[in-house]
Amino acid sequence: MKCRRCHEPAVVEIRRHNAGFCQPCFLHHCREQVRRTVEDLSMIGPGERVLVAVSGGKDSLALWDILLDLGMAADGLYLGLGIGGYSERSAAYARDYAHRRGSRLVEIDLPGDLGYDVASGARAARRAPCSACGLSKRHLFNQAALDGGYDVMATGHNLDDEAAVLFGNVLRWSMEYLSRQLPVLAAGEGFVRKVKPLVRLGERETAAYCVLAGIDYVIEECPMAEGNKHLGYKAALNAIEDQSPGTKAAFYFGFLERARPLLTATTEATPSEPGGVEVAPCERCGSPTTSQVCAFCRLLERAVAT
Ligand code: SF4
Ligand code: ZN
Repeated sequence: MKCRRCHEPAVVEIRRHNAGFCQPCFLHHCREQVRRTVEDLSMIGPGERVLVAVSGGKDSLALWDILLDLGMAADGLYLGLGIGGYSERSAAYARDYAHRRGSRLVEIDLPGDLGYDVASGARAARRAPCSACGLSKRHLFNQAALDGGYDVMATGHNLDDEAAVLFGNVLRWSMEYLSRQLPVLAAGEGFVRKVKPLVRLGERETAAYCVLAGIDYVIEECPMAEGNKHLGYKAALNAIEDQSPGTKAAFYFGFLERARPLLTATTEATPSEPGGVEVAPCERCGSPTTSQVCAFCRLLERAVAT
């Protein structure tokens, strides 16, 4: 197969585009996909400061690399989850990358800075580990972006992630979650804008990007991921995609094009509390919440008390 762009031998094939690319053209293709996504969806404006959530994995490091290559003012944020050796190894990849690029990496450590880890937080809050982890990430990412004066918080969710979440939400017709599942959530009182610039790239592509760009990343999966429903949804979508390349992108982008206009109003009014419910500042941390004390502060209280 020849490279679609320069006709040299291809090293990567993307079946859904029915195209192959050589190394430099593939890197260019990935940057272009992100540049177009950022521009078309008004994710990041000229001169805005971006905080990228960096886990040490392929997606977040590829995202950080591409945003820097596109000339954006992007710093990284690493959240240590306290998941033993996995967290230590992940942190090392994030730090190595930051060092190599001469970029700033903000670090927050759940055990060191907040006094709990994902496992103890989950036990204390009687939540599944991924639920306690997700709640902590949402709160701490937003807080770090506000504290650091960033305009935008960017995460490395790729096409496979978003299609799998959409699949799960559609299987249950979870309208609240569907209303929030947009690649851009506008800023609101107490919330920075949140963006997912990798939604046009699949996970095979972000992995190939890292390999071809010489970026080392943590390959092992988080040990807490076992039993996570999204892995099952991904496997189901991959089986469909194998038979019929392009289905995943058609599913996700069809949702955005057709459902987005219907859902924008609720999500813009209250970015993290869908459904038009009234929000007021949490009496402990000031984050917008629908109750007196936000879910994160309740988790924190229980986790550090146990
Ligand atoms: Fe957090 Fe679950 Fe992801 Fe691990 S798999 S990083 S616990 S959300
Ligand atoms: Zn709070």
